[in-house]
Amino acid sequence: NIGRSQMCVDEQGNPFILMEEQAAKKRLQGIQAHKANILAASAVAQTVRSSMGPRGMDKMVVGPDGDVIVTNDGATILEKMDVDHHIAKLLVELSKSQDDEIGDGTTGIVVIAGALLDGAMDLIEKGIHPLRIATGYEKACSIAVQRVEEIARKVDIHADDGEALKKAARTALGSKVVSGRKDQLAKICVQAVLAVADLSRLDVNFDLIKVEGKVGGKLEDTHLIHGIVIDKDFSHPQMPKVVNDAKMCILTCPFEPPKPKTKHKLDIRSGEDYKKMYEIEQAYFRTQIQHIKNAGCNLVICQWGFDDEANHLLYQAGLPAVRWVGGVELELIAIATGGRIVPRFEEITAEKLGKAGIVREITFGTTKDTMLVIEGCDKSKAVTVLVRGGNQMVVDEAKRCLHDANCCVRNLIRDPRVVPGGGASEMAASLAVLSAADQEQTIDQYSMKAFAQALDTIPMALAENSGLSSIGEMATVKGLQETTQNAWHGVDCMQVGTTDMWEQSVYEACASKCSQLRLATQVVKMILKIDDVITSADVMQ
Ligand code: ADP
Repeated sequence: NIGRSQMCVDEQGNPFILMEEQAAKKRLQGIQAHKANILAASAVAQTVRSSMGPRGMDKMVVGPDGDVIVTNDGATILEKMDVDHHIAKLLVELSKSQDDEIGDGTTGIVVIAGALLDGAMDLIEKGIHPLRIATGYEKACSIAVQRVEEIARKVDIHADDGEALKKAARTALGSKVVSGRKDQLAKICVQAVLAVADLSRLDVNFDLIKVEGKVGGKLEDTHLIHGIVIDKDFSHPQMPKVVNDAKMCILTCPFEPPKPKTKHKLDIRSGEDYKKMYEIEQAYFRTQIQHIKNAGCNLVICQWGFDDEANHLLYQAGLPAVRWVGGVELELIAIATGGRIVPRFEEITAEKLGKAGIVREITFGTTKDTMLVIEGCDKSKAVTVLVRGGNQMVVDEAKRCLHDANCCVRNLIRDPRVVPGGGASEMAASLAVLSAADQEQTIDQYSMKAFAQALDTIPMALAENSGLSSIGEMATVKGLQETTQNAWHGVDCMQVGTTDMWEQSVYEACASKCSQLRLATQVVKMILKIDDVITSADVMQ
């Protein structure tokens, strides 16, 4: 293409022609672009479909360094999958936004979006314009959300020791790798969230819930600590392992005498000199320790290290100490105990000390690992869930599962309405959309029908993953919903013997389901509007 070329001259004066590289650009337009986009996105949706529900499969994702994670969480699978296709990335983002916003339902949302796109593909082939499909989907989405809100039931989150919250957390955990211990973990989640929840503002500050993992032990050894845990130990092995009624000074200055800096020389010529220096050093340490003790402190938390000499003196003075505490942890301790971070020894005063009911060292099995637990903090309600598990993979996955369950409990504190799981909400919404489609006079009726069909993918996937006949099971349950006029009938994945999800206590937060429908529809609409994809060669795979 000479029109896009340029004549140039190099340093030696030789002319050359600079041409724009046309062949390197790839461009898809119109229906071709729509189809390619939809295919890519639904391929992503297919990969997570089999991991839905209590009987869903887990995925193993091998990272670029050969590190392995095993997970069932949709957002994590997609995040780690290293998706290259630009449109497929939108689905990854979709799952992430559900994760950020709600925290649970990240697999479901991608499956719904995939199904909506598949439906759109059929309609495009029939000749309906993508924008018409988008409007139809939007109409259908508001009907679906309305129906889901209609069938929601309000639960009393305080009744019976938060039983309703536990049931919802159990549903969230039931489909995860840790499902064997869901009762215990659900209890921990509810206790943790309620401990930090601000019930007057109906919100939960997740910064106050720390989830720490420690490899070793069993999953059932996971427990809740009403305080903070830091990965440190007391500096001297003979210091007491427990400090009751702790008053701690939090230091950012090193526990050592001032050192000569580079430009100064210390002239020690005789044993006498050396002794003198030693005595000065000792005196220095002693005044420091005395200063701390005078302030009423009985535990030293120090950002820096100190040598054996200082360590021994601290031990002799009966002043337990912790050294090399990182900046972030130091701040956490300061916030939780109400102490001030002190940069100089001279500045330590009684009111700058942090207070805690008990500080103790905990050990694990036969390993040398120890952790420091600070409980009964003065200023903060912060809690820590200490997750145990046979290996790093289990611990990591358990942490992710706890996050989902915590989010689920938080959502119910914000809005205590629940909707049935097991695909019941989707089927009820599907029936409502279908009947609205029958009333619809415009061409939108086709896309509304497609929307209803897409919603059915959830119960079908749940049934399929549980080894049941997907269409058969869905048809039976849907029939049941119609005849009994009870929208709480869903797929009995665990073969408990009843399809009533209220009886099975399988329910999820209403907010989560509505957000799934809304976000999925939004992204699908966006994908349907793209009709021109221009990619430079180096990004094309
Ligand atoms: P997500 O990441 O979307 O939460 P999950 O793999 O956790 O995906 O699966 C959640 C789906 O499984 C929800 O639709 C929920 O209703 C359903 N589910 C969970 N537990 C049960 C159960 N015991 N019986 C039937 N359905 C269940």
